[in-house]
Parts: sequence; structure tokens; C-alpha cells
Amino acid sequence: MRLLVVEDDARLADMLGRSLREKGYAVDLAPDGEQATYLAAVNTYDAVVLDVGLPDRSGTEVAREIRRRANPVPILMLTARDSLGDRVKGLDAGADDYLTKPFELEELYARLRALLRRMPAMLPSILQVADLEIDTAGQTVRRAGRELPLTGKEYVMLEYLARSAGRVVGRAELCEHVWDENHDPFSNAIEVYINRLRKKVDEGFETPLIHTRRGAGYLLASLEPSEGEGTEAARNPHRT
Ligand code: CA
Repeated sequence: MRLLVVEDDARLADMLGRSLREKGYAVDLAPDGEQATYLAAVNTYDAVVLDVGLPDRSGTEVAREIRRRANPVPILMLTARDSLGDRVKGLDAGADDYLTKPFELEELYARLRALLRRMPAMLPSILQVADLEIDTAGQTVRRAGRELPLTGKEYVMLEYLARSAGRVVGRAELCEHVWDENHDPFSNAIEVYINRLRKKVDEGFETPLIHTRRGAGYLLASLEPSEGEGTEAARNPHRT
């Protein structure tokens, strides 16, 4: 999941960037409203964390600008404590939720997970593909009832594939949602992570769930015609 974090307090921005990346998110940082509006227009984000007090314009104006471009990205506003006016203006401008400063990181993570679950199509908190179960609230993954030890990045990649289960996800799309601006598009990081995921998700199981479509991308699906356990979307589109 790729996030845009808009915060002018350099120390807080740096801390948020590091903590969220540790959680496996791809994070782009913007220090002001102008940079934020530009990045939101040229990149595809899964959520925006938006400070209300910015040096050049208010976060509320940034939210309004994002919505004016018909961008439905979930927006979490960071507002000052006790500023009811800011919260109301933020929600009116199109923000989806707000968090008052100072906040605990755990609360930020929980709000973000809740927002990300709403997108793109009211995601259920448990995603299921055959016997693979992804709990997006707890960020845990089980296969055949056994918990798989995934790193933050591996989890994010698998969750993205699971949200698109049954559909081939191209490398560029995967890159865009899983890595931030600092990612080198010519690196083989995607292949490396897919291989690690394969080891953890598929090794030792009869039915592989992670498939490579040469030249097209990756697919998470159970391709056994008899397999009836997956969600409707995850059911086999290419029976062979
Ligand atoms: Ca600020």
C-alpha cells in the first residue's frame, strides 16, 4: 500500500515515514500543500495522511483540491487537539477521517487500516483465496490454518495481490502500490519478493496460489477447477 504523508514538521514527517515503512507501507513525503497536490495528481496512492497546518495552504484546501480532481483516495487528516472547526472543515472538504495531535502510532495504524479496508470496494477484513486467509485488521496470514511469518513488505504485496485475486496484476501496478518514489523501477525487487512469498505461501502445499504470467504480471488464485473454497472473484478465470 502506498501512502502520501503531508507534514511540514520535518522531525514528525521523518518519524512517520520510518515507522510506516517499517510496517511495510511505501511512503512518499510532502512538506507543503503544493508538493502534496502535485504528488497526489501524478501518483496513485492508497491513502493520504494530511496535516491540517501547512506553511503554504491549509490541509483542508489540499483535501478540497484532491477531491476537485475527482480523486477518491482516502484522506486521514491530522488536526490540532480541540480544534472542532478544523475537523468539521476537513470532513466537509472531503477528508474521510481525522486524528488529533498528538497521537499514538498504534492509533494511526489502526485508522489507516480501517480506511484502506474501505477501498476500493468495501474490502472485508478477512480476504480468502482457497485455504489462504489474510486478516487485514491484524495483518496476519494463515494457510490451511497455519500462520505464515511474513515481513511487512511481503505482507503488503500479498494483500495487494489478494485484493486483486483472480486478476493478473502487472509489474508496474504492483510497483506503484508497494514501493515509493525512491524505488528503482529497473531493479528486480518484485521478482525477489515474489520468490520469497512463493516459498512461504506455496512451498509444501499441493496447490500453488501465486502464479506468474510471463510478460503480464502475477496472479493470486487457486487454479484447480475443483477448488470451490475461494471467493467468487478468486475463482479460476483460466481453467486449463
Ligand atoms: Ca503542521
